[in-house]
Amino acid sequence: MQGKAVSEGIAIGTLTIYRGHAKAGEISGYLGNTGEIRRFTEARAVARIQLTQLRDKAEEEDNKMNAALLNSYLVMLDDPAYVEAVEKRIRDRQIPAEHAVEETRDSICNLFLAMDDEYMQARAEDIGDISDRIIRILTGRHTVITMPEGKYILLADDLTPSQTMQLDKDRILAFVTRRGSNLSHTAILARSLNIPAIVAVDFPKDCEGLTAIVDAYTGNLIIDPDEEQLLIYKRKKEESEERDKNLKLLKAEPCVTLDGKHIGLMSNVGSVDDVKRAIDNGCEGIGLFRTELFYLDRDDYPTEEEQYDTYTEAVRILDGKELIVRTIDIGADKTEAYMQFKHEDNPAMGMRAVRYCLGHKDVFRTQLKAIYRAAACGHISILLPMIISIEEIWQIRSVMNEAKAELDREGIEYRDCRVGVMIETPAAAVISDLLAKEVDFFSIGTNDLTQYTLAVDRQNTELEFICDYHHQAVIRMLKMIITNAHDAGKKVCVCGELAADTTFTRDLLRMGVDELSVSPGSLLKVKQAIRGTSIR
Ligand code: PEP
Ligand code: MG
Repeated sequence: MQGKAVSEGIAIGTLTIYRGHAKAGEISGYLGNTGEIRRFTEARAVARIQLTQLRDKAEEEDNKMNAALLNSYLVMLDDPAYVEAVEKRIRDRQIPAEHAVEETRDSICNLFLAMDDEYMQARAEDIGDISDRIIRILTGRHTVITMPEGKYILLADDLTPSQTMQLDKDRILAFVTRRGSNLSHTAILARSLNIPAIVAVDFPKDCEGLTAIVDAYTGNLIIDPDEEQLLIYKRKKEESEERDKNLKLLKAEPCVTLDGKHIGLMSNVGSVDDVKRAIDNGCEGIGLFRTELFYLDRDDYPTEEEQYDTYTEAVRILDGKELIVRTIDIGADKTEAYMQFKHEDNPAMGMRAVRYCLGHKDVFRTQLKAIYRAAACGHISILLPMIISIEEIWQIRSVMNEAKAELDREGIEYRDCRVGVMIETPAAAVISDLLAKEVDFFSIGTNDLTQYTLAVDRQNTELEFICDYHHQAVIRMLKMIITNAHDAGKKVCVCGELAADTTFTRDLLRMGVDELSVSPGSLLKVKQAIRGTSIR
């Protein structure tokens, strides 16, 4: 089956389909039969509103299949057999509603899955989905992943950032997703971990447990391969491992072009583990720490102390190397219920990143205080995402001053940081001459810059063929941004995925880029490209 390769490599192993279920958790408090049945009824009412909104959206988008599926969910939500089964459990077992839903879900799913009937197996999935939604509403808790022992090739429709965060990545030989694009979270995560991945593969539902080959160079998924195919791919895998071993030899070599110009080789990370991987692959610092991931898959904002611990752990590992912390780029596809986002028709162009922070200054101040405190222990700079104006910088500077003033009042040690901006909107690119005077450095986010310049949703698989990171409009902007930064004596890093595209390394270097920031898994490949490039 043909898909799109998004993280290079070869994997051979057993196919396992992603299973994430909501968990009811420990039993605490029981409001009596009437109370719990009322909670169940109210949770179904909330689920009905959510599903109706989703159904209406699917209809608006003319997505008939999704609309039909959501309609069937709405019917199932009020199915007397399901409702009575849950209520009977509450009465008979004197348990809270979420536990009754969990038990009912598991017993119906087990029953349906055991039937040798594709239709009933699909219904098990539907009951699972609806029950999970109700449990999440009742508990505010998130999905817990239940996967088999051992290593496997993980198949999923698509994975959200919070789902990927919970996976035990050491057990995953490769990712294969039905949806997704080069910039989906699965793709970014896979590249960061150096795990082969292909997306946009329409794999069959009944392939669980079968052996397969993932060729994440060509985007091929071979299910149930024959002996000859296995032999060929085992050899290819060995060759690819050999290439990786040779790349490792470059770790201690300097990152200079053939004509001797040093290019800063930084890394994009989303966790302290990623920082370790980046160091293992010879990075000179962290060019992009995506901090919003700490805000996902939880029930409340992380505290100042929790964030401080994370940043200090990262600077400790970096041992003097720079850590560029990007303030939260929350919103769009990175949200959680506790953040209470309102429905937006266009979340990618909505309340996200610094817009969210300026609307929630307490949340922003907490993060800034944690960063300033950690800066006392190492070399930290601050990076601001999704900037569109000078006024935003002024407003942000004022919140930064408030955060420092609070630390002064509290008598807590901290250190000020350099401030840079992500140039990832056409507006920021066009006023980059003005922005360069306001900040200390630029980091170009080509993922968003391309999406907003070309007006192409970066997550939309069907539009990927026109989401062209090499588009003349993007290239012209890159040149303009770099010239404007250099005229103001400021450095420019490229931290979007384009930075890891070795077919474009020479062009980037010739444009005058000072630093490249790429996922830990791409560092050595990019270093090899830089060392093989002449910029004159
Ligand atoms: C970008 O937009 O290029 C970028 C690096 O940020 P993110 O992918 O996190 O939006
Ligand atoms: Mg971005």
